[in-house]
Order: sequence, then structure tokens, then C-alpha cells
Amino acid sequence: MALSFSRLSKLLEWLDLDRSELPYACDDSPSFPLRVTRDFASRMHRRDAYDPLLLQVLPLLQESAVVDGYSQDPVGDMNASVSQGVLQKYNGRALLITTPACAIHCRYCFRRHFPYQQQHLDQQLSDQTMEKLNVPDISEIILSGGDPLTLNDQRLTQLLSQLKQLPHLKRLRIHTRMPVILPSRVTPELVEMLRNFPLPVTTVLHINHPNELDKSVATALHQLRHSNTHMLNQAVLLKGINDKTEILKALCEKGFDMGILPYYVHQLDKVHGSAHFQVSRERALEIEEQLRKQLPGYLLPRFVTEIAGEESKMPLGMF
Ligand code: SF4
Repeated sequence: MALSFSRLSKLLEWLDLDRSELPYACDDSPSFPLRVTRDFASRMHRRDAYDPLLLQVLPLLQESAVVDGYSQDPVGDMNASVSQGVLQKYNGRALLITTPACAIHCRYCFRRHFPYQQQHLDQQLSDQTMEKLNVPDISEIILSGGDPLTLNDQRLTQLLSQLKQLPHLKRLRIHTRMPVILPSRVTPELVEMLRNFPLPVTTVLHINHPNELDKSVATALHQLRHSNTHMLNQAVLLKGINDKTEILKALCEKGFDMGILPYYVHQLDKVHGSAHFQVSRERALEIEEQLRKQLPGYLLPRFVTEIAGEESKMPLGMF
């Protein structure tokens, strides 16, 4: 992570892109800073200003535009906070904000304005947090953030050993981009730790484009499968990046070859700074329909949208 790009000029230089010839205006000092690992950047095509991986991380001046309907907290995270670093939106599940850190800063991230300073967990889960989680109503814990796999193995071991004391817990879920953004994070120690967790573990990856998947990712995912974790993928539908049937089809198929089942394609959450990524609902439904005709049912992701305050993610076709 220390070798990641955090300066625009360095990233453009690496990609052999001349700033003065770019077809868009970049922001040199965005409030949500540039961050991308060299692993991920190495999968971008040089001299391609429209590379779909580059567009996911490039801070544009457009992000400062104030657009009606876009807000700092589009999915109602703050209203779902039940104690510091614990969100509870849906029946039976609690989500832990384990860390503010990510190995990549996705420009469309719905938590790009999240007040992590007030809302992440302490090193050791406090008695108060354990009390909140120790209720029959919570049978699944979701490790989120930030990216929980940016925590080191010692911290993760500590966290998992606290969670396995919860008598009502039946499942653990980990939401992460790390195996794709920094494949070397999937160490034998991590695999062993997950394998030793006494309950089923599901890893929900976040991959938007088939170009994100290369040999190094395949190797990391192959290792991860040794931990007996189920692997699912959620993508965000992003204009100019993956809003084509053939791209999402290739993503579902390539992911499956590496052991991942498609889970969700999310309609963009309307977070301030992301309006240029929005794909219309009509276009999203059209892509979903075309995918339905081209893929077997088990490879078809559910197209959903999140509405603050609702009791579940909503199928896009429902309204
Ligand atoms: S890795 Fe996830 S949490 Fe981190 S910036 Fe990207 S979308 Fe947001």
C-alpha cells in the first residue's frame, strides 16, 4: 500500500498520458484524495484516457458540481448507526465499520464523505459494542469500512476471536476489494485465519470490469478458496465504465472462472461528487434484460438500488 499512487502527476506519467491532452479536467487536490495501488494501475492500458480502471480512480473537477438529488449520505448510513462503528439497516444483520482505510479510492464510493473519525470501531471491541451485537436478532456480522482487509492479521485475529464469542452469530461476511486491488494481501496466514473461523464465511468482492481480473488476482482468489469462503461479487453500474451488456457478461463469466458468483449490480448511490457516473434506470433495466437472455440463471446478478430507510435492497425493476 505504501507504494500506491497518491499524486495525479505520477499516475499520469506511469500511464504515459499527457495532462494537456486529456479530454477532461482533473482535480489536483480533491477533498477525497487519489489513491490506487500499483497492482491495479498495472492493469490500466497506457495512453488510454478512457481506460475503465483509470476512470474509477481519477479525480475530476466535475466532482465539485452541486447536483440536485445528490447528498453526503445517500443511503442513510448515519440514521442506521446503533453505536459507534455499528450500523444496522436490515433484519438479522449488523455491519461493522472496521477501519476508514482503503487501498483504492473509488470516485463513486457512497462512503466518500462518511465521518469515519466518529464512526469506526476501537482496536478492541468495547463491552458496549459486544452488548449491542450479542442479541438473538443478529445472526450475521458484516465486516466493512473502508476495507476490513487493510487491517493487519493481528488486528483481524483479535476481531474474529471476539466475534466468535457471540452465541447467536451464524455467519460472517467480509466486504472487500483487497484481493483484486492488492492480491498479495491474500497471505497463507489470512487463509488459515478464515479457515479456522468456526462459522461459514462469505467474501463479497467488488469488481466492476473484467479488466480488473488478471493472473495475479486469479492466484489470490484460488488461495482464498482454500479458506472455504464463499465468494460473491457486487459491481456498481458506472457510465462509461461498465454500462454495456458485453462488459458485464464478460465480468460474470471471467469472475466465475475464478470461483466468484455474481451477486449484485448496484444502481449508483447518489453521493455528492458522483453524478457523472449515473446510468439511467431505463438503460440499467435494458442491460439486465439482455443479460438474462445471454447468461444462465446462476450467473445473472440482481440489479438493485438502495433506498435509505427501506428494509432491504430493492430490485430495480420493482418501481
Ligand atoms: S474500496 Fe469500497 S469503501 Fe473503499 S473507496 Fe472503494 S467502494 Fe469505497
